[in-house]
Amino acid sequence: MVSCCLSGGLRLLRGVNRMLSRRYSLDVSGDLLRSQAFINGRWVSAPDSFAVLDPATGAELCSVSDCSVPQAQEAVTAAYTAFQTWKTHTAKERSVLLRKWFDLVNHHKEDLAKIITAECGKPMKESIGEIAYSASFLEWFSEEARRVYGDIVSPAAKDRKILLIKQPVGVASVITPWNFPSAMITRKVGAALAAGCTVVVKPAEDTPLSALALAELAAQAGIPPGVFNVVPCSREKAPAVGEVLCTDPLVAKISFTGSTATGKALLKHAAGTVKKVSMELGGHAPFIVFDSADVDKAVAGAMASKFRNSGQTCVCSNRFLVQSGIHDVFLEKLGKAMDAELRVGHGFEPTTTQGPLINTRAAEKVERQVTDAVSQGAVLVKGGKRLEGSFMQPTLLSNVSADMLCMQEETFGPLIPILKFNTEKEALAIANASQVGLAGYFYSQDLSQIWRVAEQLEVGMVGVNEGLISTAEAPFGGVKQSGLGREGSKYGVDEYLELKYVCMGGLTL
Ligand code: ADP
Repeated sequence: MVSCCLSGGLRLLRGVNRMLSRRYSLDVSGDLLRSQAFINGRWVSAPDSFAVLDPATGAELCSVSDCSVPQAQEAVTAAYTAFQTWKTHTAKERSVLLRKWFDLVNHHKEDLAKIITAECGKPMKESIGEIAYSASFLEWFSEEARRVYGDIVSPAAKDRKILLIKQPVGVASVITPWNFPSAMITRKVGAALAAGCTVVVKPAEDTPLSALALAELAAQAGIPPGVFNVVPCSREKAPAVGEVLCTDPLVAKISFTGSTATGKALLKHAAGTVKKVSMELGGHAPFIVFDSADVDKAVAGAMASKFRNSGQTCVCSNRFLVQSGIHDVFLEKLGKAMDAELRVGHGFEPTTTQGPLINTRAAEKVERQVTDAVSQGAVLVKGGKRLEGSFMQPTLLSNVSADMLCMQEETFGPLIPILKFNTEKEALAIANASQVGLAGYFYSQDLSQIWRVAEQLEVGMVGVNEGLISTAEAPFGGVKQSGLGREGSKYGVDEYLELKYVCMGGLTL
């Protein structure tokens, strides 16, 4: 157990000018606040520790075990040993345990949400939404666990039978980001455990507390020791821990969500021992509004898609392309919606819709993109300023062109840059001129156009007249440098399964 403190003279930001002083405390019941690693069903200390910070204030929340190579190796060995038994559990037994874990996550949703808000900064309402989303993967994969089927195939020879069976790959290393500290773990681990794999999770250094709370609930659910392990570590130790997790011969599978740069480094590690990999990397989502769109729905979709988690999701709309006939009215209505709906502040304030960015570097990146765009002729319609610490004003830019920084790189912040276009062909060319392709959105009421554009967008996921599309039932993943593999859906379990061909010969029939 650990006591975490979220206090200090926090200056709460409301709008641009008003600063209030407030003290917050993180009251979480039960044993959900943990500071040690979770290895082989036990809470284990590492020789060093690192600080977890409140991104709103920079104040230290608590100190967590800073795992290094020995703890990572211990966790891999524990997972490998546990795998020998876990894989022999019936699918129904695994399903029941995942369901118990799901029930416990639901039961503790308020407390788990508070932990997310404290370490990640997102508003409580969004944190509660994330816990529901996170739990939905445990529920979904508790159901999918029982639907892993093989095939019997017609043979070419009369004395043979051909059987295809699916088997768990083994130990999976799971490396996750800070922007969905809970859901990015369950989306991978739910599928892995359903398949019969065991896991070692390395959570992001910014948000280890959510991972450790999940470990506590996994233990309470009765998930056996060694099946779910968590090794938190600092940014400094991440390369060494990551190397163990991606090169140890006992590890069969790597699942990573994070930046494209880190993903490429882990892919190189994986190559040495030819491990199976899933990579969910960066996005640069286009959001296209065609002349035929319902403008109010497009504005609502833009708000939801852009400002969730203050713009810090890999499926956030990043490049807004608006057709000339609807451009002015869309811009005007979007500006009004931003004024009416967005409130900057600490995530624990009930009125807050825009929390801090994860750190000051993130806010500086958004500011840099704004400065670059304005210097090249973009019009600053709203916001544009970095506030205290890692807070950033929600920002709207018009008259943007495709060569500006904000249209070239992922923003990961509350910035909407609007580029005016004339033809569908032009919009598609701009949208597809990217090395990555995770999500894409467009608004149109022209059925033929809907089919054309949905098929031609070079992305893994398309929202048609919809700005929020993530759900446990649908496959999540991208094309190009946005990654490899799919998570969630009926396909998610396949990432943790091998297909084995069994030929039974010499049969006399
Ligand atoms: P961000 O820049 O948003 O933090 P990263 O891709 O760097 O995105 O981080 C995502 C996850 O990858 C985090 O858990 C982080 O600790 C981890 N990570 C970063 N660098 C490495 C590395 N060299 N080896 C293993 N894990 C890493």
